[in-house]
Amino acid sequence: MARGMVIVGAGECGGRAALALRDLGYEGPVTLVGDEPHPPYERPPLSKDAMVSDAPEIRAIASDEVLAEKSIRHIHSVQAVAIDREAHKVRLSDGSVLPYDKLLLATGSTPRKLPMPGLGRRCVYLRTFADALAIRAHLRAGRRVAIVGGGFIGLELAAAARKLGAAVTVIEAQPRILMRGVPAEIAEIIHDAHVAEGVDILCCDGIASIADDGNEVRVTLAGGREIVADLAIIGIGAVPVTGLAAEAGLVIDNGIAVDAELRTGDPDIFAAGDCCSFPLAVYGGRRVRLEAWRNAQEQGALAARNMLGAGEAHAAVPWFWSDQYGLSLQIAGLADEGRSIVRRDLGDGAFILFHLAEDGRLVAASGIGPGNAVARDIRLAEMLIAKRAQPAPEALGSQAIKLKSLLAA
Ligand SMILES: Cc1cc2nc3c(=O)[nH]c(=O)nc-3n(C[C@H](O)[C@H](O)[C@H](O)COP(=O)(O)OP(=O)(O)OC[C@H]3O[C@@H](n4cnc5c(N)ncnc54)[C@H](O)[C@@H]3O)c2cc1C
Repeated sequence: MARGMVIVGAGECGGRAALALRDLGYEGPVTLVGDEPHPPYERPPLSKDAMVSDAPEIRAIASDEVLAEKSIRHIHSVQAVAIDREAHKVRLSDGSVLPYDKLLLATGSTPRKLPMPGLGRRCVYLRTFADALAIRAHLRAGRRVAIVGGGFIGLELAAAARKLGAAVTVIEAQPRILMRGVPAEIAEIIHDAHVAEGVDILCCDGIASIADDGNEVRVTLAGGREIVADLAIIGIGAVPVTGLAAEAGLVIDNGIAVDAELRTGDPDIFAAGDCCSFPLAVYGGRRVRLEAWRNAQEQGALAARNMLGAGEAHAAVPWFWSDQYGLSLQIAGLADEGRSIVRRDLGDGAFILFHLAEDGRLVAASGIGPGNAVARDIRLAEMLIAKRAQPAPEALGSQAIKLKSLLAA
């Protein structure tokens, strides 16, 4: 009898992989193990719509009913603690043991901790629905919020907190916000939008100390300034969850190292989503780890196909989005591969920056604008990147030339 498929991590990637196994017609046992109490759910709303809602709710990827209907066993609130690779078994924190034919590790990432004494219950991180509820309870007029880190999650939370009337200070040690992967021109627009909404953004200043007495937090900056807040939200990036894989002797290289088919060094163990690093075909096999919603979805589905023997290589172009106030930012590809930038205006203040490599190849496109203004052109840019196209810079920059025509060329 088949031991079946076991998926550790019931998040975006694990949830999608379980559903994909069934959609692909797999009839053996599928078990999804997760340490959170909920069915798999979407995380992006946690810093956006859910954070400004009066009664935040989970947006489920697959509800308990759907999981039951598809005969996907979901073991929740339990951690996978060890893998016996020889016996093909996973041990759980409740003492039970799950045998597997193929195992998928979709353990995600976890907020990077601020390595500093003085943090207490008023210093929080955001990753889970439980974290979101705890933060939401503090956001209202009259509250002071300090956000440590001018990255996407911190800035989306700043926008949500302002919408709810809280006073917000963002502290960023780098010379500007969104230093990683976002062109300065776009970061400036986001910066200005926050300032216009009343957010105080402090750049170029690291934290010297934090004192949290349980009622308020005092953040002292290296430059001497002191910020007093009712809540400090720390958003300084995320680290892949690799402990289980490392204990099992799998290779870790900025995440659980997998090949183009998302397979680890063990032919029966796969890893996908935020927790893995993989060779990105469109960039000559450069090993990357992505923390992005669509990647987690795509890799969950790809891992499912390959667990069933498809032998299919990863071929997608990275894509990421963020919403703040009425602005939507979208990035396709890896901007740091670019050497020169061409700007294309789309009207209504929306524009796209195309990043070209030395050989003229389009390697990334970063766009910003109101609502969905950049979505269509970013999608076309993504196709050009996938084609490894070398479009003429003048054509990219000209509004008169449709991107679609470049694709056809
Ligand atoms: C607040 C927030 C906002 C975001 N906004 C955006 C956005 O706007 N755009 C975008 O592209 N991306 C966004 N992301 C990123 C996106 O949500 C992630 O890339 C995606 O959730 C990754 O999916 P995953 O399944 O790899 O990991 P996760 O969704 O983190 O799921 C992993 C799950 O595994 C569990 N787990 C770990 N170890 C074990 C174990 N040993 N046993 C059992 N369970 C375990 C974890 O608790 C977790 O539930 C956001 C993320 C957050 C947190």
